[in-house]
Amino acid sequence: MRKTIIAGNWKMNMTPTQGAAFVNELKGRIDNAPCEVLLCPPAITIPAVVEAAKGSPIEVGAQEMHQAKGGAYTGKLSTDMILDAGCSFVIIGHSERRQYFGETDAGVNLKTLKALAAGLRPIVCVGETLDERDAGETMHRVSFQVWGALAGVKAEDAAKVVIAYEPVWAIGTGRTATPEQAQEVHAHIRQILTERFDAATAAEITLQYGGSVKPSNVDELMAKPDVDGALVGGASLKVEDFQRLVMFKA
Ligand code: PEP
Repeated sequence: MRKTIIAGNWKMNMTPTQGAAFVNELKGRIDNAPCEVLLCPPAITIPAVVEAAKGSPIEVGAQEMHQAKGGAYTGKLSTDMILDAGCSFVIIGHSERRQYFGETDAGVNLKTLKALAAGLRPIVCVGETLDERDAGETMHRVSFQVWGALAGVKAEDAAKVVIAYEPVWAIGTGRTATPEQAQEVHAHIRQILTERFDAATAAEITLQYGGSVKPSNVDELMAKPDVDGALVGGASLKVEDFQRLVMFKA
């Protein structure tokens, strides 16, 4: 059965020193976590976090990657680099990458295929803008993104993919989707995955919700049957808050 994964996306926060201090404080407090625990630091902070997390259940992921093996791509990270640094996951297609850095659905697909081929687990982010939700286009937008991201993905690799449903209007705004809204879209994604693969494969795929998840709403979100974890920005930057998320009560 699919795993529950609570992941922190630190975005452009946490120096190497701060990241290591965070992990050293967190790691003794989450031994009985009912989920996999993942931190996605900025690239330069990854080695310090990997080192500090040794011997703990904390896994580490990157926030972005390039699909090329290597070469003249100033500022980018290859999957070889990410793996060699000790990561097992990579976030792909976060809405901030789409909004500020020109990430496209086609690029998300190329990166997803490359991550899988390299042995990294992609966390593919999808979600509608407020205008799209208000126009009744949420399901259509999310379908388009999910089908596009998974083009060419083999059924045997499908369970390695994590899909994070992150309504853009809920990211960093303090405005969270209700558990019912999250469940509705997650059930829709599960249906797409059933059509794309089959029901048994779809049931193996972890679907995270992201968008202002915090200690006060994590339990009700996690209680929904198709919500298998969370991708968390702001509340992953404080040890106490992130600890509470990881120790959610379903
Ligand atoms: C995110 O960046 O993926 C996110 C969900 O941010 P926040 O939790 O701050 O809304």
